[in-house]
Amino acid sequence: MCGIVGYIGSKNCIPVILEGLKRLEYRGYDSAGIGFIQNGSCNVIKNKGKVSLLEKKIYESSYSPTIGLGHTRWATHGEPNEINAHPHYNTDRSLVLIHNGIIENYQTLKISLQKQGYKFVSQTDTEVLAHLIDSFLKKGINLFKSVRLALAEVDGTYGLAILYDKEPEKLVVARKGSPLVIGIGEGENYVASDVSALIAHTSRVVYIEDGEVAEVYSDRFVAKTILDEDIVKEVHQVTMTLEEIDRGGYETFMLKEIMEQPESVLNSMRGRLIYEDGTAKLGGIDHLLDRISKTKRFIITACGTSWHAGLVGEYMFEQFLRIPTEVEYASEFRYRNPIIQPDDTILFISQSGETADSLAALREAKRKGALVLGICNVVGSSIARESEAGVYIHAGPEIGVASTKAFTSQLVVLALITLVLARKRDMSLVDGRSIVNEFLKIPEKIKRILELNRDIEKVAENFKDSKNFLYLGRGYNFPVALEGALKLKEISYIHAEGYPAAEMKHGPIALVDENMPVVFIAPKDSTYEKIISNVEEIKARKGKIIAIASEQDEHIGNLADYVIKIPDTIRMLMPILTVIPLQLLAYHIAMKKGLNVDQPRNLAKSVTVE
Ligand code: GLU
Repeated sequence: MCGIVGYIGSKNCIPVILEGLKRLEYRGYDSAGIGFIQNGSCNVIKNKGKVSLLEKKIYESSYSPTIGLGHTRWATHGEPNEINAHPHYNTDRSLVLIHNGIIENYQTLKISLQKQGYKFVSQTDTEVLAHLIDSFLKKGINLFKSVRLALAEVDGTYGLAILYDKEPEKLVVARKGSPLVIGIGEGENYVASDVSALIAHTSRVVYIEDGEVAEVYSDRFVAKTILDEDIVKEVHQVTMTLEEIDRGGYETFMLKEIMEQPESVLNSMRGRLIYEDGTAKLGGIDHLLDRISKTKRFIITACGTSWHAGLVGEYMFEQFLRIPTEVEYASEFRYRNPIIQPDDTILFISQSGETADSLAALREAKRKGALVLGICNVVGSSIARESEAGVYIHAGPEIGVASTKAFTSQLVVLALITLVLARKRDMSLVDGRSIVNEFLKIPEKIKRILELNRDIEKVAENFKDSKNFLYLGRGYNFPVALEGALKLKEISYIHAEGYPAAEMKHGPIALVDENMPVVFIAPKDSTYEKIISNVEEIKARKGKIIAIASEQDEHIGNLADYVIKIPDTIRMLMPILTVIPLQLLAYHIAMKKGLNVDQPRNLAKSVTVE
């Protein structure tokens, strides 16, 4: 997590850094700070809370430096207060440093530095880096080398940016496990933890890889490995536009992203469906289709919302491919010493492509020889680059911390993979074509669901004071129940649980009384009759029932307190539709509670710490 941005050139860097920090604020918003060199010495301005507060504080001062860096924090070590905010100084304040990640051996390093006389002012793990680098600078070693020597002693993850007033013509950056890019300008250069902070200024970027350190001047940069080997870096052209990352007239990013889904889902399938052959073409995995279709087992690995998409993927793969599929939490997968065979295919799903747990699990899977595929949104992200092959979801930048359009696009991509592989195995042309037809109708159906926005808002009005929620679904809609509950928890802070509808009898039903809202995802599919019995069971216990039902369902209205009717599609694609009313329900409940849905408390997007 945490956002890093830096600038070196000839203009005042403060507005550039503040603007970059605002674009990165989704990565963390516990505190914000800026460090710069002016008149030959380092300065730091920082505070607890959001970038807007920092902005006020900075504009009360009259600095106009041309080299600086900024940080927005998602605290891991030490409470989110001003002292723990980044940047951190070394003792004589000649160096300032910002960090994204966790220094795992910071306690050992701290004790050793304290023995050498270093005094610590913060509770962060980060501060050890400032003093450790200082211990090399004090020996007369230059900054670039001091950073490399210091990092050789460090365990953990970092994206780092550093300024040193004795070498005021450069920024030094380093990466291990946390993303970092250099933006190449004309007579000026930028650094950032993701390209969205840079694209207002340049579309030419250099991705720093793990184990690399770079010194960035206004007109060039030099990259080396931590072990001092020279490396040549490629400059990439990014296509993301500023418009894509602005709110576009919506009150929040989350609402914009929910409303964008007809378009984002279309983008995920654009140019990929081939009606004549009843299949799809996925350029990223085309060359591996033989191997993938013969895989003995799929393991889908992810975290959070992407994990829910993975669960839907499991249903798809097992229904159409008849290949055993497991879905794993990346963090558990990594540490459990999983049994991985060379003929396994392991898919990693991550919106940002930077999720630390997923990335670590990916590296572990690669070491064990499995075929590793990435399903990511952010082009050029770490998971995308380190996977053997993969499929981008092309949902466009997702800024709202609670994932919405990335989820539906992940489902589209999983369904496309299913279609391609099923056609390669034993699905008939006719069946393939009818699935392609269903795909093509999805964007229009999403539009119709989004037209229910006002109705869903009215339903939400009744539940803003609820303390608990249950979400129940069967089959393909069980993961949707989990996702609906997660959305509500994330942004409204109401406790919610998702459950397979039938499992409800084995425990959660004890919670049901007249104060318990229960959301049923109950489209007319093969489990409909069963789920209606579950609705009856809740009604008998006076729970408040909100049903997501099929348009042609005339019956459910007699049972449910509120019914949201949506169009139908084939079972495999139904979660793409059923999740949308749940996104809107969570959204409106949170808004009616007056909460900040784009930056919910304690959360951050792109979870780059483990
Ligand atoms: N571990 C550091 C801290 O807690 C950095 C966290 C971050 O990535 O924002 O300050």
